Amino acid sequence: MKKRYISIFLVLILATLAVYSQLFQPPVKNSYITAAFGEYRNTGPVSHFHLGVDFSTFGRTGLPVYCGGDGYLYKVWINDNLYGNAIFIFHEDTSLISGYAHLQSFSEKISRYVDLVKEEFGNQTIEIVFPASAIPIKTNEIIANSGDTGEATAPHLHFEVLEETPEGQIIYDALEFLEYQETRSKQLELIQIRSNNKYFEVTDGKENIVEYAGVYPKIDVRVRQKLGDNSTIVPKKVSLYINDILTYKVEFSKLKEDEVYKAETIYAYGSTASVYWIKMYSDYNLSPIVVNDFSAFSHTSSGDLRGKVVLEDFWGNEKVYNIKFVRPY
Ligand SMILES: [Zn+2]
Repeated sequence: MKKRYISIFLVLILATLAVYSQLFQPPVKNSYITAAFGEYRNTGPVSHFHLGVDFSTFGRTGLPVYCGGDGYLYKVWINDNLYGNAIFIFHEDTSLISGYAHLQSFSEKISRYVDLVKEEFGNQTIEIVFPASAIPIKTNEIIANSGDTGEATAPHLHFEVLEETPEGQIIYDALEFLEYQETRSKQLELIQIRSNNKYFEVTDGKENIVEYAGVYPKIDVRVRQKLGDNSTIVPKKVSLYINDILTYKVEFSKLKEDEVYKAETIYAYGSTASVYWIKMYSDYNLSPIVVNDFSAFSHTSSGDLRGKVVLEDFWGNEKVYNIKFVRPY
């Protein structure tokens, strides 16, 4: 009797795993990523987080864009400021939505609907929402040709994964849902530390001296991850330890709809789409801030502190930088 109970329980667990581990096929074949989820973007009228992963289209437009998984056509955007022409597919099994942006044109099947609307409304910014479960789309079905419409400074395919909940949209790191192998070399780097507007160089494998004032160090770290010699992305996780206590940690896994334009909570001045200055302290709460606890230092006014910045990537690699925080006087 007991045995049977366990096996039923196991089946339930496996069923749950199957539901939440939907893996999408890459939307561009034989390609590689050029940008990651959570990166800083100061293009457009307001700075924001990058909500998807970008796939290279090798500098070209017109490459076939493949649907990541079985689902239904959910929305089409035409001439959106940021996304240009975009397609959203609803995946019933998981309630996830996959998005494909900066498209040059739509497949014949989708164009049929889009052209009708364009005839009616002309070439303006349009959102078409399709009736639920009306137009099925298959895994690896070609849904569009890639392009450079919207905010794209160069041709590429922007892919994102989101979910609509009663509390609003949640946008996830699409890499966590993609069947994607990264074969390029991976290098995590802490390039510089800024403390009280003073810059400190960092060398790998030695103790780096950083001055601080106040009760505890409030630092910005300039970080990046190089993939091969052609892509630079933001590291997935950045942690700060002080005296071996994990005091602050940023992890780019998800963002809520109302957090999208709060990039300055995470990113410090000097950040661009390719330079990432991450604050290692915050007065606010935001989904990527997974640890924020300096309480151990609230009443100490000791001198030197032993610090450590740990960078982690999506593939399980990490790099540790040792710091000695000192008071300059
Ligand atoms: Zn993008």
